[in-house]
Amino acid sequence: MKSNRRNFIGAFASFSALAGTKIFASSEDSSGMLTKHELPALPYAYNALEPYIDAKTMELHHSKHHKAYVDGLNKAEAELAKVRSLQDFSFIQYWSKQSAFHGGGHALHSLFWKSMASPSQGGGGEPKGLLSEKIKEDFGSFDSFKKQFSSAAASVEGSGWAILHLRKSDNRLIILQAENQHKLSAWDTIPLLNIDVWEHAYYLTYQNKRADYIQAWWNIVNWSFVEEMYTLYRK
Ligand code: MN
Repeated sequence: MKSNRRNFIGAFASFSALAGTKIFASSEDSSGMLTKHELPALPYAYNALEPYIDAKTMELHHSKHHKAYVDGLNKAEAELAKVRSLQDFSFIQYWSKQSAFHGGGHALHSLFWKSMASPSQGGGGEPKGLLSEKIKEDFGSFDSFKKQFSSAAASVEGSGWAILHLRKSDNRLIILQAENQHKLSAWDTIPLLNIDVWEHAYYLTYQNKRADYIQAWWNIVNWSFVEEMYTLYRK
């Protein structure tokens, strides 16, 4: 049990610090006690994903929404440090939940930006190589994978995500929904690819037509990044 836990934490730590596939940005504060999370730079310009995702949506989404999750996570972790130093655990449920919500938001958005690329930079099309074979093995065909992923994304209740994960226990690819940023996870998984279906991700261009946004999004999936992630974590 102890070694499983260590493996899980080890995998998550390396997930966050991959050369070339670095997901999270952070730095230690001057006391060296707390890691301060930072908003990662987008790997492309705000208008790079047009016409599929408009520049204004990208700018608000990255500089305001994602930033708010980074700030919320730093705040929650600072409050948890205070809780420990004061030994007053009265509000532990609130700050635990805040860490999960904002931490989930930071992690999922960091992956989401990497999951996309403009068609001129290789976005869209279909996966190749090992990932392509694995998708066929686990979902029957690319087409049925795409249908399941799109349906999962379209049917998230309220705000949330559809996420392709690699499940570590049996090395299978699975698709899960997440409500908000942190509910419905299976835990023993590495997220490889995700789509944000909160309204802030598409409302300016697509209004209430979430399905149209999902259909357009397939044109900007960064399959080389997803392949890199899969190759790194597969058994
Ligand atoms: Mn979002």
